[in-house]
Amino acid sequence: MNKNEIKLSNGMEMPRLGMGTWFLGEKKQKDDQETAALRAGIDAGIRLIDTAEMYGDGKSEQLIGRAIKGYDRSRLFLVSKVYPHNAGRRKIFKSVQQTLKNLQTDYLDLYLLHWRGAVPLEETVECMEQLVKEGKIRSWGVSNFDTDDMRELLSVPNGDHCVVDQVLYHLGSRGVEYDLLPWLEEHQIPLMAYCPLAQAGDLQKDLLKSSTVKEIAKIHNITPMQVLLAFVLYQPNVIAIPRSGKAEHVLQNWNARKIRLTDVEYGLLDKAFPAPKQKTYLDIV
Ligand code: NDP
Repeated sequence: MNKNEIKLSNGMEMPRLGMGTWFLGEKKQKDDQETAALRAGIDAGIRLIDTAEMYGDGKSEQLIGRAIKGYDRSRLFLVSKVYPHNAGRRKIFKSVQQTLKNLQTDYLDLYLLHWRGAVPLEETVECMEQLVKEGKIRSWGVSNFDTDDMRELLSVPNGDHCVVDQVLYHLGSRGVEYDLLPWLEEHQIPLMAYCPLAQAGDLQKDLLKSSTVKEIAKIHNITPMQVLLAFVLYQPNVIAIPRSGKAEHVLQNWNARKIRLTDVEYGLLDKAFPAPKQKTYLDIV
């Protein structure tokens, strides 16, 4: 990874590596461990935390709210997501209020439409713009939008104020490299990679068994998981949000920012897990 931050189209600086939180906060008995994991990350310098109203029905946001207590809010970059069915005039304002309450904060750095639903894009954009004006959110973006959805979004009034697109991206799922990633780059919109660790290899079993991944890990004295992170962060327009409920893993993931894959190593990974040569539709989980 070359730069720790990326400039968004509205001028804001966004960290390129953060913490995901899906499934965190859902099990009471893991509360202390998960809070400690998030705090260890913040203590080490992680500023970006990604969540959603969907995660544990607000429990992930609440866990973050407890974990960030006592830290300087202005140093953090908090991201949450609104359900598509809440992303219209009738419900979004209540949703954001609940999210802010859960997080114990008075603004979000970034608010995302979790995926595309039945509410017209024009309406969601209008609401997002209003939330920016009210100071409830500093910026907004989308998630699970493919290239056609992005084109459509940019054609509605103020649609070009969208600052990121959060989509699934890992070494074993590289469909976005065909047209979405270049398109986003051209429009100065970073791609926020979710499942960058392929859910610890669960989404693609052969990743962690790969001799190429293992060899590169050995050369750098890092773990195969860190190789996966270094792979997505090799692309300058990518932000990654690996999730862990364990402090030790959070710190390992954070250290992946220092890894510089050589062009040769990147080429070996590319050969072992080639990107598709034609359009494939977005992977989702
Ligand atoms: P990840 O690819 O981040 O993988 C998470 C898994 O990896 C967990 O099982 C975790 O276990 C394990 N892990 C993490 N770090 C390490 C490590 N260093 N060594 C070994 N194992 C490790 O999957 P997610 O699905 O969580 O994706 C990341 C984030 O992206 C989510 O948490 C969420 O914030 C976001 N997301 C967004 C979606 C969207 O639709 N917009 C969809 C899916 C995810 P352990 O806790 O034991 O470390």
